[in-house]
Amino acid sequence: MKYSAPRGTRDILPEESFAWRFIVQTIIRVLTTYNYEEIQTPIFESSDLFQRAVGDATDIVEKEMYTFTDKGDRMMALRPEGTASVVRAFLQNGEYFQKKKLIKLFYEGPMFRYERPQTGRYRQFHQIGVEAIGSSSALLDVESMMMGAHIFEELGLADVSLAIHSVGCDVCRPVIRERIKAFTESILSSLCPDCQSRFDRNPLRILDCKNPTCQMFFTGMPNMDSALCNECSDHFFTVLSLLEANKIPHEVDSHLVRGLDYYTKTVFEIRSSILGAQNAVCGGGRYDNLIAELGGRKTPAFGFAVGLDRLYMILKELRLPIPAKPTVTFFVIGLGAISKEPAFKCMSTLRKKRIMADFCFKEGAINDGLKEALSSKAVYAIIIGENEVENHTYTLKNLKDKKQFILHSLDEIAALAER
Ligand code: AMP
Repeated sequence: MKYSAPRGTRDILPEESFAWRFIVQTIIRVLTTYNYEEIQTPIFESSDLFQRAVGDATDIVEKEMYTFTDKGDRMMALRPEGTASVVRAFLQNGEYFQKKKLIKLFYEGPMFRYERPQTGRYRQFHQIGVEAIGSSSALLDVESMMMGAHIFEELGLADVSLAIHSVGCDVCRPVIRERIKAFTESILSSLCPDCQSRFDRNPLRILDCKNPTCQMFFTGMPNMDSALCNECSDHFFTVLSLLEANKIPHEVDSHLVRGLDYYTKTVFEIRSSILGAQNAVCGGGRYDNLIAELGGRKTPAFGFAVGLDRLYMILKELRLPIPAKPTVTFFVIGLGAISKEPAFKCMSTLRKKRIMADFCFKEGAINDGLKEALSSKAVYAIIIGENEVENHTYTLKNLKDKKQFILHSLDEIAALAER
């Protein structure tokens, strides 16, 4: 029986893993300058948390959650996203967080959604996300989007665009829903089955249907922004003017609604044309009701998540400079029984000096050792045979120019690594 990774999951091999760490560290460096701190939450939580937070009528909760009953008969779910867990942690650790007026947290890790896998869409994917809890200011919306843009700038990615919209609040969203229903009612039978089922359950999501036929029918749909209440409309206007004032390029996308129910007012996506159909590499928005819905006091908040799998895809496609995975500097080859111990000691001493070194475990001729040294992409081979043991020397071979020379101490060898 041959096993393979479950559909929609993948192995991230060393080359990509190295690039991945570089990307994550670059992002964390940006987040830290905005005073965000890391939080780590469990990978599974009570499934009820996501049902309440993300919304019963969303695709994520209805169709995509990995749920299971644990041995204590509790219904659990692998986290499909990070915001619900961070809010749960914020509420559960009230005493820890109460000293601060504005809490700024980031998280990183795998998320799980049972989606139809395709390019850029996985069942286990990875996000780095941020949540700022405690401010209703439009400035926070703008700071967050600026930070999103800053991340891509820092990674050298110019080919991205910021799309923004407002989904309103409890007061105006019912009006928006009714307007969408009024427009789509007469064309409903021509729309895709997803749109038809969303008509009653979650009409807002009809707006972001990607089906080309549906898109064609929506071209005549009136702009819903006039349905926003005064507060949401003022907030949206302020956000747009602040983006303008700070020279952050953006476009209003009146069909942008996002797939999670907790958003209020501002929603946004950062998109890349490289990605094709799944073009969002970052998405988020304001969620002023979620904390109260999960049992806390009404507390405004704003957050977003960057999809690391998609971000890596773009960087790779554009061949943006990611540092190469370092290779081992020295590959130690001990020849014959007498040299095994000194060779092993040589390698461990170099490692304690924080120099990358590896060792030939194979007993055999020099050529076998050199072949291994070459395949490890080492810079030098250190050869220790009977002569070297007797004379307390080390024979070094530069694996590029093939020049061979003798050194007398590990300090001399270590000095080579610094060149
Ligand atoms: P969301 O949590 O749906 O707001 O998504 C935020 C970001 O996570 C998106 O912009 C994507 O970059 C990424 N993302 C969401 N779902 C997936 C998925 N199934 N596979 C890969 N990346 C995803």
